[in-house]
Order: sequence, then C-alpha cells, then structure tokens
Amino acid sequence: MSARPYRLIRSPRARRLTLRIDPEHGLEAVVPERYSEARARRDVEAFIATRLKWIDRSLAEVTSRRTALGTDGRLAVGGLIPYAGRPHHIVVGAGGSITALNGEIQIPEIIAADPEVVRRRLLSWLRRRARAIAEQMISVYAAEMKVAPTRLRIGDQSTRWGSASGDGTISLSWRLVLAPPSCFEAVVVHELAHLRASGHGARFRAVVERHLPDEAARMRQLQRLAPALSAVR
Ligand SMILES: [Zn+2]
Repeated sequence: MSARPYRLIRSPRARRLTLRIDPEHGLEAVVPERYSEARARRDVEAFIATRLKWIDRSLAEVTSRRTALGTDGRLAVGGLIPYAGRPHHIVVGAGGSITALNGEIQIPEIIAADPEVVRRRLLSWLRRRARAIAEQMISVYAAEMKVAPTRLRIGDQSTRWGSASGDGTISLSWRLVLAPPSCFEAVVVHELAHLRASGHGARFRAVVERHLPDEAARMRQLQRLAPALSAVR
C-alpha cells in the first residue's frame, strides 16, 4: 500500500500506533506490544499512506541536517569542516599554500606540526575565501540591482549572517563560506536589497524576489545548517 520503508518497533509502553523519524534509521513505526504481526503491518501501512507528505518532508530534513552535522568543526589536521556546503577533511598536502580540492582542505606540511598555527592560518584563509567570493557576488548583483555598496566588511557576527548600514557598508560573516554557495548568494542579495529598502516589508520583498525568487527558502536552509557552521572553531 505504501512504498515507504520503515522499521517496526513493538513497545510495551505504546498505547497506540505512532510514526517517528529516527536520525539514524529513518522512518519507524511504534506499535503496542500486544498487536499481532499481521495487524501491526496492516495498520502501519494504512497509517503511512495518510502521512506521506509529513514523512517525506521529515526525512528530507533529517538528511540535510545529518550531512551538516557529519562535520566536527575542528580547524586542525584530521578535522572535518563544512566548506561550500560540503564536508571537507583537513589534511597535510604537498603544496606550499592552503587549497580546497575534492572534499579536502590541504595545508602545507611546514605548518602542520603546530596546532595553533594551523588553526590561525585556516581561519585567515577562510576569511580571505569569504571575501573573494563575496566580492564576486557583489559585483554581479550590485550592477543588476542598481545599488552601490561602499565597503565590504568580513566579520564573525555570531548571531547574524550579514547586515547593511546606511553608509553603504555590507557586513558579512566569514562563516558563509562554509555554507552552500546558494545560501551565501541569498545573504548577499538580501543585504544588497537593504540598500534599496530598510526593514522587511513589501518594498524589500519585491526587490529581493525580482533578483532571487527563492531567497526565503535559501535562508531557511541556512538556518537549518547554522549549528554545523557555528561549530567550526
Ligand atoms: Zn534583513
């Protein structure tokens, strides 16, 4: 009846049939222990058929969260951090500078022995990458949106991804470089739009949606990833 695979769990404490999403095992159906196997399967499958939307949405959410939380956030050799939205292992490479390649961030051997130096060099590299990418995006969108930002600040605002001030300064968190580029882009467009309209009213929404129609969905994705991004230190 339903095509969604699930694990059946019998529980002496369950009074009725419930569905839940386990981060590791996916969809689980919990039934009272006294149910026969046949009754359990029949009831569960009928119930699943009425909850397909919820199941699919919840499974997608758990999957996206797991990808993000698969990282440990350690800026150290052997650490695993998100970069451009994908997990990257920090390894010692043959080159003389830090580079990101195929799911790895390679650091020069010459600095690898000192954890404090590794961390400091990685942090400044991430900030430089954030600035370079932000500058590219701003040059494309500022022209398109007919705004003229005066200055770009790359900071580490822990509570917000970006801000725009009256004098035309755009401030962005370097942690955006850890997020998927689509999310980074959404914050850039959002802040540039503030140079046209303050607040989040209809005028602001109209500017944003003309240039990036799915900005709101991208911002929601960024919020879901926030724990994994702020865990990098
Ligand atoms: Zn805003």
